[in-house]
Amino acid sequence: MPELPEVETMRRGLQPIVGRRIERIEKPRSRYKPLVMRPGLATLRRRLVGQRIVEVGRLGKRLVFRTDGDDRLVVHPRMAGIVLLDRPPDERHVRLRIWLAGRPAHAVIVWDRRGLGTVELFTDEQFARWRSEGSVGPDALEITLAQLRQRLQSSRREVKVALLDQRAVAGIGNLYASEILHVARIHPRQRCDRLDADQWRRLHRAMRRVLREAIRLEGSTLADGTYRSALNREGAYQSRHRVYQKAGQVCPSCRQARIERMVQGQRSTFFCPRCQPLR
Ligand SMILES: [Zn+2]
Repeated sequence: MPELPEVETMRRGLQPIVGRRIERIEKPRSRYKPLVMRPGLATLRRRLVGQRIVEVGRLGKRLVFRTDGDDRLVVHPRMAGIVLLDRPPDERHVRLRIWLAGRPAHAVIVWDRRGLGTVELFTDEQFARWRSEGSVGPDALEITLAQLRQRLQSSRREVKVALLDQRAVAGIGNLYASEILHVARIHPRQRCDRLDADQWRRLHRAMRRVLREAIRLEGSTLADGTYRSALNREGAYQSRHRVYQKAGQVCPSCRQARIERMVQGQRSTFFCPRCQPLR
């Protein structure tokens, strides 16, 4: 968390800043764990102030701000970060404020409750090199069925674990992996190399369906309240979750079995044993 739908919602909310020039970068004093920032603040200021933001894009679970100097500022919110326009949930966890020139006065705010996020600045060349290393695979909304199979079908990993691998497919995290596998009617422990053609088709379709539904509802704000859109609103997809954090409740799909929780790779997985039998 935040995953693809939440970061995509932030990206959409940040579109009003496209075309604006960076006027000032401020790093408020904070007694909390500082974000990883590469390069440091002084270099960030020297290179970015005066540049115009020409695009706010998304790469998996990261936001990418491209400037007219072809620099890329890549913000990875990781566990508890948000990037918003103007109004943060509180001042204590504001880690960076990027003030923009012109009217209305706007600042891009990097807020992070746990300080686990990262902010990195790349030149065009560095960005291309980083992309070519393949640490971020094709986007989960854009990957084709053939690409998905080609990347995962010889893997012996359990499908839930493989879906979290950002090198294979980018954007899916722990929450949406459980939801997607439920819609696809696939057991989370099933090995990738044992999925048949029909299961691959269902998995691919479920990925797009769940992620698009979640984007339409502006993502999921969980009980901890951390995730907010760029306009500091809550998402609404949490009310549509089918299995995530619903252990013990009756499955909304079959209305017979109860949702179970198990642990895979130290993360909780939720599934319905009736709708998602292990083959
Ligand atoms: Zn069920």
